[in-house]
Amino acid sequence: MTATLGAPAIETFDSLDPATGAVLSTWPVHTDEQVQATVASASEAARWWGDLGFAGRKPHLAAWRGEIARGMPELAALMHSENGKPYADAVLEITLAVEHIAWAARNARRVLGSRRVRSGMLAANQASTLEYAPLGVVGVIGPWNYPVFTPMGSLAYALAAGNAVVFKPSEHTPAIGAWLVEAWKRAVPQAPDVVQLVTGFGPTGAALCRAGVDKIAFTGSSATGRKVMAACAEGLVPVLMECGGKDAMIVGDGADVKAAADAALWGAMSNAGQTCTGIERVYVTDASYDGFLDELTSRAAKLRPGSAEGASYGPITMPGQIDVIKRHLADALASGGRAVTGGTVEGALVAPTVLVDVPETSAAITQETFGPTVTVTRVADVDEAVRLANATSYGLAGSVFAASSKAGVEVARRLRSGMASVNSVIAFASVPGLPFGGVGESGFGRIHGDDGLREFTRPKAITRQRFALPVPLTSFERPDGVTGQLVRLARLRHGRG
Ligand code: NAD
Repeated sequence: MTATLGAPAIETFDSLDPATGAVLSTWPVHTDEQVQATVASASEAARWWGDLGFAGRKPHLAAWRGEIARGMPELAALMHSENGKPYADAVLEITLAVEHIAWAARNARRVLGSRRVRSGMLAANQASTLEYAPLGVVGVIGPWNYPVFTPMGSLAYALAAGNAVVFKPSEHTPAIGAWLVEAWKRAVPQAPDVVQLVTGFGPTGAALCRAGVDKIAFTGSSATGRKVMAACAEGLVPVLMECGGKDAMIVGDGADVKAAADAALWGAMSNAGQTCTGIERVYVTDASYDGFLDELTSRAAKLRPGSAEGASYGPITMPGQIDVIKRHLADALASGGRAVTGGTVEGALVAPTVLVDVPETSAAITQETFGPTVTVTRVADVDEAVRLANATSYGLAGSVFAASSKAGVEVARRLRSGMASVNSVIAFASVPGLPFGGVGESGFGRIHGDDGLREFTRPKAITRQRFALPVPLTSFERPDGVTGQLVRLARLRHGRG
C-alpha cells in the first residue's frame, strides 16, 4: 500500500520480471467505484463509436493497427521483460494480433450489416431485415500467457462490431495491457474513452463484471471462469468464456513422425508450455511410437530454456504455476511414469520434459499443466487414441498426423474440441476467418471469424409491413372462415410429411 501526501491512499501492485523477480513497474489496484466510473465513461463513448458505423470506424481501427505495428519492437521488448517469452515469439504474437484487427475491420460490415431475410408465405406482406447491433460496453478480462494475441481476439472484434471496451489485463502483465490501450489513445486521440484500462487482481475483474458492462469476454482458467460467471449471473450479464485446455495430438500409422515430432515439440514447449491450445498429451499408434518418441526426445533435449538471446523459451511467468508443474511431474513419476528427457525445475526454468508410461489417471494427464512438459502414450489404434484424447473435461483443440490428409481430417472431426489442426499444430489460431473457442471446461462462445464478430452484438430483427393482407390473420377483425382455410392450408403444406 502506498500513499500520496494529501490524497487518499492508493493501493498498488508491482509487475515483476519473471526471470529475476525484479520490479518492472507499479500499477493501481482499481476500486469498485473507479471501475464503475470507467464503465460509465465508456458507455458515453460507445454511443459515439457505435454511431460512426462500419465505414466510420474502419480508419480508426487502421490507425490503431498502424500504431501497434510501428511500435512492435518496443512492445515485443516489453513482452520479453514482463512475460518472459523470447523476443522473436513476441514479434510473432503481435503480428498475428494486428492481422486480427485488420480482418475484423474489413469484414464487420459483411458479417454484421443489415440484410434482407425472406418473409415466408404467412408474412408475404412484410419486408424483413436482420442486423447485428453493438452491445455497448464489453469488459475484457485477459490472461498473461499471450498478453497481446489473446485479448485482441476480444478487443478487435468487439470494437469492429461497434462496442467500447474496458480492458483488465492480468496482474502479471499490466504494462503490456496498458501499452495496447495507450496505443489506441495515440491513434484515436478524439475518442480515448472507447478503449480504457483498469488494473488490479481478481476483485477488480469481479468489479468489472458488476459495473454495468453489456458483456464480459473472459480468457483465463476454468476455475476463475466459474467465478466470473457467478458474478455476471447477478446482473444477467452475458459472458464469453475462453478457458483452459488439455489438448492432445494423435499420431497414427504411416504418419510422418519427424513432422509430427517437430509440431509436438512446438505445441508442447513454445512459450514454456504456457499455451491454452498447447499440446500436453500425445497418443501414438504402436507402429509409429518408437520412431516418434526418438525424434521428439532428441529434439527436446536440444532446446535451451532461458532469457538470453536465442533461448528456445523463457521462464514460467506466474510463480504459482511452478508448484503446479512440479506436482504434476511428481505425480507422473510416482505413479509409474518416466521422464525420457528433462523432468527438472530450476527456479522459474523448467527443462523440456517428455514423459512416458504415465497412467491416464495421473494429474499430468487429467489437469492442465501449463509447462514445457508432454506425455507420450502408446495406443493400439486411432480409435483408442480418439477415445483417450476425448476422455477429458476440457475440449479446446487438438492435432492429428496421419498417413493421409483425408484420414487426418476424419480423425480431427471425431475430436471433441472447438478446433483441430491436421499435419500441423495450432494453425487455426493464425486463420482470422476461423472461430476460436472450446467446449466443456474450455468454455463457450467464440472469438475470431464471423462468429467472433457476432459474439459482440445482439441480432436485431425488424419487419416492415409493405401492404395489409387482404385477409387479416392477427386482428380481432379476422373473418370467421379464415380458421378453416388455415387448417386446409397447413394440411396441404405439411400434412403429408
Ligand atoms: P486466471 O484465471 O488466473 O486469470 C485470468 C484473469 O482473470 C486475470 O486478469 C485475473 O486477474 C482475472 N480474475 C481472477 N479472479 C477473478 C474474479 N474472481 N473475477 C474476475 N476476474 C478475475 O488465468 P491466467 O493464469 O491469467 O491465464 C491462464 C489460463 O488462461 C490457462 O488456464 C489458459 O489455458 C487460459 N487461456 C485460455 C485461452 C483461450 O483462448 N481459451 C487463451 C489464453 C489462456
